[in-house]
Amino acid sequence: MKFVDEYRNADLAQKYVQEITQTITRPWTIMEICGGQTHSIVKYGIDRLLPPEITLIHGPGCPVCVTPIELIDCALKIASLPNVIFCSFGDMLRVPGSEKDLLTIKASGGDVRIVYSPLDSLKIAQENPDKEVVFFAVGFETTTPATAMAVYQADQQGIENLSLLVSHVLVPPAMSALLSSPNCVVQGFLAAGHVCTVMGYEAYKPIAQKYKVHIVITGFEPIDVLQGIYHCIQQLETGKYDCENQYIRSVKSQGNFLAQQLIQEIFEVVPRRWRGIGEIRESGLGLRPEYSLYDALKRFESPLSSLTPSTAPQVCISGEIMQGYKKPNDCPAFGTQCTPENPLGAPMVSSEGACAAYYRYRNHRQLVGQY
Ligand code: SF4
Repeated sequence: MKFVDEYRNADLAQKYVQEITQTITRPWTIMEICGGQTHSIVKYGIDRLLPPEITLIHGPGCPVCVTPIELIDCALKIASLPNVIFCSFGDMLRVPGSEKDLLTIKASGGDVRIVYSPLDSLKIAQENPDKEVVFFAVGFETTTPATAMAVYQADQQGIENLSLLVSHVLVPPAMSALLSSPNCVVQGFLAAGHVCTVMGYEAYKPIAQKYKVHIVITGFEPIDVLQGIYHCIQQLETGKYDCENQYIRSVKSQGNFLAQQLIQEIFEVVPRRWRGIGEIRESGLGLRPEYSLYDALKRFESPLSSLTPSTAPQVCISGEIMQGYKKPNDCPAFGTQCTPENPLGAPMVSSEGACAAYYRYRNHRQLVGQY
């Protein structure tokens, strides 16, 4: 199949592993930002192909995983209200809140629907004018334009029974926050190609220079990831700190101007709490005041006011995993108390979660007990 097989070519993969091995002279720690890249690395065993000097650590680029538990609890409350149709991407349904998840609400009779695009929610709102339709708007810069388009079209068409529970987050502030930590071990990043397809990569250059890290905008197939690592090692070995683009088949330095314009029209930058990590300033997007009509937190302010403070399981170390300090199998609950059937944290059930990748693609019975 053109455009996929060529990025999964075993001979080419071996060639890159050889190049990396010949280039490397000392240990390096590289973080892949995106959970999609984590899944590719674990699924294809890329970390096990690399020379032992390279440590790959998994970043916070799973939007479902970083959505704060307080917002999950808000989603559960809204979804359980009568007269509400609650729309969400599929992998949010199993994410545990303080007590239950959206799937439990659905099983108890709540009208919870899986959608593939925010625009599906708009259509549902058009078709159900007597219902309140709520979309759980979760995602990085990649998915934000589609959310912005749903709000824009609702506004143009005067549709008022749609609202959004917004948890959009931004990558560059999260990278800066990670790098600012005195415990940070990251020396190079594989940045997320799809995010940069929308936003470009100019914002990453000052980060590379300020924190003396090398950043490679990287795709998601095995050859993409190996190429990204190779470019990163080449530059780190020569003491260069910059940002370069491996994902040239999709990313341009300035990104997609029209998508950025639409995001700017609908959203403004706000502080955002990241699950397991805490608040990161200027790391989120919230609806501009002109579009506050579509803000589900405001629309359902009264029922949400009865929520008790959220509580996450103490045992879950997802925050430490997403900052690169630990791996999923370092978690005492991995594969025992916490499984895809009984998740304690979002990374075990999100399609981009690191714990889900280790559970799915590694022999989790062997991993259990390695901490
Ligand atoms: S295995 Fe479960 S409890 Fe442990 S970090 Fe992952 S999601 Fe959290």
